[in-house]
Amino acid sequence: MIRVSPAVRLSMGLVFIVISILLLINFIGLVPDQSLMAIEARKSRAESMAVQCTYAAKDNDMLALRKTMDSLVETNPEVLSMGLRTTHGKYLFQTEDHKAQWSTPPGEDSTYTNWQVPIYRGNQRWGTLEIAFTPQKGYAVLGIRLSPFALLLLSFAALSFPGFIIFMKRSLRYLDPSSVMPNRVKYALDTLTEGVLLLDTRGRIVLANAMFLEKVGCTAQQLMGTRASGLGWIDPDSNEPAVDMPWAQSLSRAEKQAGIPLTLNTRRDGMRTFVVNSAPVLDDRGRSRGAVVTFDDITEMEKQSFQLSRMVELLQMSRDKITKKNKELEILATQDPLTGCLNRRAFFPRAEQQMASVSAQERKGNHACVMTDIDLFKGINDRYGHAVGDKVIQYFAQSIKSVLREDDLICRYGGEEFCILLPNCSMEEAAIIAERVRDKIETHCSQAIPEAPGIHLSASFGISDLTIGAHTIEELFAQADRALYKAKEGGRNRFVCWDRNMERDFAHKAGTGL
Ligand code: GH3
Ligand code: MG
Ligand code: MG
Repeated sequence: MIRVSPAVRLSMGLVFIVISILLLINFIGLVPDQSLMAIEARKSRAESMAVQCTYAAKDNDMLALRKTMDSLVETNPEVLSMGLRTTHGKYLFQTEDHKAQWSTPPGEDSTYTNWQVPIYRGNQRWGTLEIAFTPQKGYAVLGIRLSPFALLLLSFAALSFPGFIIFMKRSLRYLDPSSVMPNRVKYALDTLTEGVLLLDTRGRIVLANAMFLEKVGCTAQQLMGTRASGLGWIDPDSNEPAVDMPWAQSLSRAEKQAGIPLTLNTRRDGMRTFVVNSAPVLDDRGRSRGAVVTFDDITEMEKQSFQLSRMVELLQMSRDKITKKNKELEILATQDPLTGCLNRRAFFPRAEQQMASVSAQERKGNHACVMTDIDLFKGINDRYGHAVGDKVIQYFAQSIKSVLREDDLICRYGGEEFCILLPNCSMEEAAIIAERVRDKIETHCSQAIPEAPGIHLSASFGISDLTIGAHTIEELFAQADRALYKAKEGGRNRFVCWDRNMERDFAHKAGTGL
């Protein structure tokens, strides 16, 4: 934006005012019309020449007439030529070159350069005196012809404007409000690293410190007297021209404003963001007499904070990636990839942890374990192939999961063998769950796996809980495993609950080495 200094603006105003006054004076007719005056002068000169010629021609003295006309042309530099014509149109006499200089106006009229004056003898008209005058003096500026008055206005404007500027600059120096500020105060303001503006009651700048001038890239003269709100402030949030200026509040309501962000497109450094604080300057009665506004340039800080937040964002992203990768690794390390069940390594510590925490919460302390194995799975593999066998294992695991609760744990114990921990659950409740799975796979497997037409899927289950005498989780699993063995032995496709008799029988067999 081009800033025009107040001195130039005031000088232009003065020139316009004076020109307007002159135009008004001309309009109401107080300025004499020079063209009219020139015509009047020529008219009276033409008439006096006509009188002289009439006098010379009165005795038909052609020689005297000729001499008179020649001498009139000679002595009047404005007269180019003369001719005397009778009423019949015949020239009695014409001075040299009259034909070339003369062009007859229509009728009896005269023009500024060609005058026709009737000549009488007594009351009798007998001829016309033709006088060719020089053309009107004219003035042209840049090829445009101007009237003397227009030329006067133009030359006045051109010559008075620099004079007014010099005058205004000197006057403004006396009127400059900042000049009343003691120099030590000015120097103190100039040492501040913040920009400072002192505004009058109408928000016009009366003082700008060195830092503000440096940031904005203007001179004090350019800013003096201009409105602070007219510098082109932008609201950084909306990127639209700012509407509510902080200093407007200080001026109208004598209120302090702090921490208002404003952006300005500065000449030197382009877009810069400031935090603006504004405080009213009050008189003895507490009325606002102006405002002091400070501008803290936070552009660099904003840039750094943007870079920092970008970095935090990147860090967050890489942290999320690492967490995701860790989860994937954990899944790989703890889960069986075919069924998504826990593997043995992960299962045992979790089973112990789960049992401990649920026991503490529920205070019941009984937990059940189910070992299960698909019956005659080798045959399924042989009949339908290994890939379909995989799908059957997946389906079996899925069927078990569908009947488990959130706290229950399932582990792929071996190829088609699974181990299930049911915390806070009795053997009877576990048997119901096992029966539900057994029934489900038997009834729905052929529908669920269309690749295995005519498949008959069954599984055997061994169940135990902590009431039978197991002290550790390993003992509990061992009991359930033995019960599974019993189920297989008993003809498969069934569940067997471990009991004290089996326990005794097993202990006896172990003791006898059978
Ligand atoms: P039983 O009723 O006595 O359990 O008979 P079974 O045929 O199921 O006997 P066994 O448990 O000995 O056989 C398990 C078979 O499962 C052996 C192995 O080839 C197969 N198997 C083990 N792991 C997988 C696997 O991941 N996918 C497939 N398709 N087969 C597997
Ligand atoms: Mg099997
Ligand atoms: Mg097996």
